[in-house]
Amino acid sequence: MTETRPATLLDEITVAPESGRAIPDAATRETIGYAPIHSTEHLDAAIERARAAQPAWAALPVEERSAILHRAADEIDAHAEELAQIIAREQGKPLNGPGARFEAGGCAVWLRNAADTTLEPEVLFEADGTRSELHYAPLGVVGAISPWNWPALIAMWQIAPSLRMGNAVVAKPSEYTPLSVLAVAALMNRHLPDGLLTVVAGGRDVGEAIAGHPGLDKVMFTGSTATGRSIIRSSADNLARLTLELGGNDAGIVLPGTDIDAIAQNLFWGIFINTGQTCAALKRLYVHDSQYDAVVDALATIAESTPMGAGVDEGSALGPLSTSQQFDIVSGLVDDARERGARIVTGGEAAPELGPHFYRATVVADIEDGAPLVDTEQFGPVIPVIRYSDVDDAIARANASDQGLGASVWADDPEAAMAIAARLEAGTVWINQHGTLNPLVPFGGVKGSGYGMEFGREGLKAVAAPKVITRTVAAL
Ligand code: NAD
Repeated sequence: MTETRPATLLDEITVAPESGRAIPDAATRETIGYAPIHSTEHLDAAIERARAAQPAWAALPVEERSAILHRAADEIDAHAEELAQIIAREQGKPLNGPGARFEAGGCAVWLRNAADTTLEPEVLFEADGTRSELHYAPLGVVGAISPWNWPALIAMWQIAPSLRMGNAVVAKPSEYTPLSVLAVAALMNRHLPDGLLTVVAGGRDVGEAIAGHPGLDKVMFTGSTATGRSIIRSSADNLARLTLELGGNDAGIVLPGTDIDAIAQNLFWGIFINTGQTCAALKRLYVHDSQYDAVVDALATIAESTPMGAGVDEGSALGPLSTSQQFDIVSGLVDDARERGARIVTGGEAAPELGPHFYRATVVADIEDGAPLVDTEQFGPVIPVIRYSDVDDAIARANASDQGLGASVWADDPEAAMAIAARLEAGTVWINQHGTLNPLVPFGGVKGSGYGMEFGREGLKAVAAPKVITRTVAAL
């Protein structure tokens, strides 16, 4: 079979200027390409095609589905550099470190892990001639709504387990980052049956239509808590099951007696990964009096020596804010902190010589709970460092948030760290690290950070219908 594919992945997913929407490079604001403009009519058509494709996919033996997903993962690996370049330009994250190449490679890693994770029926009861088993059946069609910060990887976290369990998927990327999701889906669709995975590159209206759509059996949503609430309301219409990965305002607590030099790099990247635009980044740091100055100085020193620039520049370790809205939120929160009398240790200003949405890595000291920079999610390259003298008080302040995605404890004493981890209200507590994820380890939030888990066996269960089969068996 001869292939008549466009020369590049970007050419394959973009449309002519007159029929598309210009997507800017996050660093320069120059147009990268034009994304298709999809409406709710496109959504209806995609769901209809998905419903038609799903039964045959579900009927395949699981080994066959997994083999096809492996071929899709190989395709992603074969084009990982092209995909990484699209992500680096569209979203802005640097190619290197935990950046765009990591994101592109991670798409294949998460896909393979979903393909290989087993979910055997469980025997619930067996006695007196009766046996009850719990099986996991496909749900049908999954609507997958994703944000702009890790566009391809987060979409994959929704797509991979759904397909693995025999579902079809209609994915809606953020209006800011459609190209990254169109690109990863185009690679997968070289191997998947027609109609099984469709990207609908629409705006909020399409997201709203997904939320209550009668043709969907499950909605996976990653994004803000406000949008999550609206999706819960809409789910009353279609009774779709929900997985909600919402915002976070993760706290970290540094215990007295901790070797600051030993933790400084992990602490910095737990905060500044993806220039702070990460759901489970460390967003408020509580440091004991005895080490307050050492931690503030260590973070400021690393911030000042970490190169910032366009994602596609090989030397960049930090990038721009992805959108002008996010730039305004971040600079507004820092300005407010400054007006309240907080100390801007480093940063605290834009870096216009780099491009319109660059904001310098910023460390803010002498700030208290109650300041919006502490109480709300900044989602940018800024860390407020809050002083404490009593660890119980620090735990209470960490838990005072209405969100509970992640949290971390930084300590030399593992037992003390474990005791505090048990008291923190979060879906994940890390010790001497923050935000590290593993495709085999479930991830999800509590409180306003949502419900449901992704990854591993728990992630597969979340896109399956539990089904009990009870039968008579010969008495033992
Ligand atoms: P957002 O809620 O504005 O948008 C997310 C997606 O929802 C987009 O695709 C958008 O078009 C769509 N949408 C908007 N309004 C909708 C509606 N009424 N109904 C249905 N869909 C709608 O979030 P964002 O600004 O793209 O992402 C940033 C937020 O996402 C942050 O709060 C961040 O913490 C959170 N986030 C959470 C996780 C996690 O795993 N918990 C991961 C990444 C980001």
